[in-house]
Amino acid sequence: MDESKGDVHLFGPRPAGQEEGSASVGSQVTPGSNGGPPLAEMVAEILRLKEEQNAVILAHNYQIPAIQDLADFVGDSLGLSRQAEETDAETIVFCGVHFMAETAKILCPEKRVLIPDPAAGCSLADSIDVDSVRAWKAAHPGALLVVYVNCSAEVKAEADYCCTSANALKVIQAIPEDRQVLFAPDMFLGEYLREKTGRALTVWMGECHVHAAIGPRDVQRMWSEKPDADLLVHPECGCVSSVMWHAAIGDLPENRTQILSTQGMINVVAESESKEFLVATETGILHQLRKLNHGKRFFPVKEDAECSYMKMITVEKLLRTMREGVYEVVLAPEIIERARLSIERMMAIV
Ligand code: SF4
Repeated sequence: MDESKGDVHLFGPRPAGQEEGSASVGSQVTPGSNGGPPLAEMVAEILRLKEEQNAVILAHNYQIPAIQDLADFVGDSLGLSRQAEETDAETIVFCGVHFMAETAKILCPEKRVLIPDPAAGCSLADSIDVDSVRAWKAAHPGALLVVYVNCSAEVKAEADYCCTSANALKVIQAIPEDRQVLFAPDMFLGEYLREKTGRALTVWMGECHVHAAIGPRDVQRMWSEKPDADLLVHPECGCVSSVMWHAAIGDLPENRTQILSTQGMINVVAESESKEFLVATETGILHQLRKLNHGKRFFPVKEDAECSYMKMITVEKLLRTMREGVYEVVLAPEIIERARLSIERMMAIV
């Protein structure tokens, strides 16, 4: 096993100003502390405008606490997609990164979808573009393409199936064994799926710079400090293969080591008798976990595993969105139609 794998960065730019392993400045901005109105006042105005405009606010689990606390729904990509589909609201305000807001627009083309900062991108989504995915497909005629939800609408439009970390395993298992499968863009999730399914997936070598940096040594260090804690690992993490291997040979207790989506972590913790958890993913999830589980303790496997793209969404920007109707997500109808097929095929499986 390559123990240095988690430290490798092959693709995907970091946001400007963020060095590897550093914390972002975005999360340290205290709403209302920069001379603007106090936080409570801004939140009240956001909620008033939300009612007035028949809008719903969706927030990803990695958003700053203030955004999570005022949202109508907080969840992972799959949960937020479902909420977007089910809502009666005329406007969806998406507090997350750009590909997530695009996914909401794909699922609800008749609704207005707004994102408070369109520059909130994703290093993983940026690791593959439509030209490279077309060339990859052309080099593998007859193969089916499964894309992880972290990619652009144009890339989704090229795919046969979409998937999220919550359902990737089921999606791969639903494809007949005799079909070759191309999986993009996350190599750690792809490797996890290869190991779990035993299938010879052809995997795109992309990564999320935040999760890839959570390596085997981080797990070992935290595990030695908290040997009684349960270990929850997101499959995008650089440590995922190592964790699976160590659990299989008994170095980590198999029954207390789980590889999960963020919503999977929330569900598992709610039902667990354990009192301590080591959490290997972006640290924004700790807010939900602590809020929902008093009496249980949560420790990040990597303290500075923070996505500065996610933290670009602030209360001030959300207030501007509610006041000015910026920034609307616009996609070509043809892209919506084709990308929607890959998402609908996923939804039909799970
Ligand atoms: S944590 Fe990684 S995968 Fe998630 S939005 Fe940030 S860069 Fe993308």
